[in-house]
This record gives sequence, C-alpha cells and structure tokens, in this order.
Amino acid sequence: ALSKHAAKIRLDSVKAEEERTRDKADRATTEQVLDQRTRMILLQMINRGIVSEVHGTISTGKEANVYHAVLQADDGPAVQRAIKVYKTSIMVFKDRERYIAGEYRFQKGYDKSNSRKMVKLWAEKEFRNMRRIYTAGIPCPEPVHLKLHVLAMSFLGDRRGWAYPRLRDAVLAGDDTDQQWRTLYVQLLGIMRRLYRVCRLVHADLSEYNVLYNEGTLYIIDVSQSVEPDHPRALEFLRMDIKNVGDFFRRKGVDTLTDRVIFDFVTS
Ligand code: ADP
Ligand code: MN
Repeated sequence: ALSKHAAKIRLDSVKAEEERTRDKADRATTEQVLDQRTRMILLQMINRGIVSEVHGTISTGKEANVYHAVLQADDGPAVQRAIKVYKTSIMVFKDRERYIAGEYRFQKGYDKSNSRKMVKLWAEKEFRNMRRIYTAGIPCPEPVHLKLHVLAMSFLGDRRGWAYPRLRDAVLAGDDTDQQWRTLYVQLLGIMRRLYRVCRLVHADLSEYNVLYNEGTLYIIDVSQSVEPDHPRALEFLRMDIKNVGDFFRRKGVDTLTDRVIFDFVTS
C-alpha cells in the first residue's frame, strides 16, 4: 500500500511539474501566437535544462521574434537567455534569397519551395555565424542551442532583464561625448576588419540597428544573413555595411574616413 501511495504521489508531482512547465511555455504565447511546433521546441528546451522559463518578447520583427528567458540552476544564480524564433511564413523569404543563393555552405538542403526547411537553414546559418564570431572574441551573444527554427543564446542586458540598447538608441554619459562617438566608430571599424579577416564574414546587414551598446562596448547581433568573402555579392554587401556605419557616425558628428579607405582597411 505504501509503495502504491508513493507512486501516486510521484505521478501527481510529475503531472504538476508538467503543468508548471506548460505554464511557463504558455507565457511566451500570451504576447505573440506561437505555433504548436514552436511550443514543443520551447518545452523541449525547458525539459533539457537550456532554459527554465520563457518570458515575454524583447522584440517582434518581420522575420523573427526574440524572447527573454531565464535558466534557474538548482544552485547558483539565474542565467538570462534570449531566444530567437524565426518566422516560417513564406513571405519573408523573398528578402533572404540574395543572401543564400551563392552560399556554398548552404547548397545542401536548399529548397525554396519548402519554407520550413528554409527557415531551419536560416537559423542554422545564424547559429554558425554567431559561433564563429563569438569564438573569435568579438563581442556578440554566445550561441547556446539550436533546434529547427529556434535559437537560444546568451542575453545581452542588465540583471533586471533589460536588453542593452541598440547603438541607434544609445545615450552616452559623461561630458566628452564627441570623443566617445569617435572611439566607438574606431571600435566598429576594428570589428568589421576582424569579422572579415579572422571570421571570414561580411555582416551584410550592419547598421546602428544591429549593434547593441553597453558601457563603451559594441556587440554585434543579427548575423543570419552574413556571408563569406567568396559569396558573389559579398563585396557589394560590405560596401553597404561601410556606408551605413559611415552615415550613422557622421550624423553623430564624427569626422569619418572615406568608404574607400575603410574598404581597404577591412579587406587588406
Ligand atoms: P531581427 O532584426 O531579424 O528581428 P535581431 O537579431 O536583430 O532580429 O533581434 C531583434 C532585437 O532583439 C534586437 O534589436 C535586440 O534589441 C534584441 N536582441 C536580439 N538578440 C539579443 C540578445 N542576445 N540579447 C538581448 N537582446 C537581443
Ligand atoms: Mn535586426
């Protein structure tokens, strides 16, 4: 009788745990509707101890939503994570075509008519690019886990769960902000050069929107479309990156170098 009782209690607690787990995954669905498949992946991530709770959205975009999540280890402090969920809809793929076509790394499994496969490839591309950038020691999120179209990475933000601002929204403290903007400009040029020369990558969507800022450090994000230098359009993308960066820092009053000079600095 005792063992039967014990078994019952265990079963109840498993059920309760399952409900709690479902509840945690449900929170992510309250703000943005997640499909069944995505919810299953989030549940699996909870069960595997990659995160313990999925919170609300940090960002809702055209191609992906980013969620805030927390991993609470039994001992030790909580670790914050960001979870990027790529949208499976076919519409957003038109934009991606030019990045994927000509990428030898993604010839295999390239099937435009299968949007689920395409979005998986896209997430995989970001995961691999991010790992390369992270390994090179360039500030960026640490890629943690990838399953289909769902990517878990470290959270770039403060302890209270606020994400660092995009460079576009950065407010610099102190009096010599001119000098600080100059320093950030030089820092970003150095990052572009290391991206190209060490990681063999062109970001291909670099702007003040895809760089986060905290306490004098710039973090590179959103690297799903980044390509290798031998991509047929890599240098065209690099020129666009250089132009975006120049435009932004000029607006901040920095006496920028010419695009030509930067191009040579980054590539040679
Ligand atoms: P997309 O632009 O395709 O929607 P991003 O990768 O640029 O996707 O992410 C969207 C926004 O989510 C970013 O501008 C940033 O504010 C936030 N974000 C993305 N990754 C992280 C992260 N690891 N930590 C904190 N915030 C993040
Ligand atoms: Mn972005």
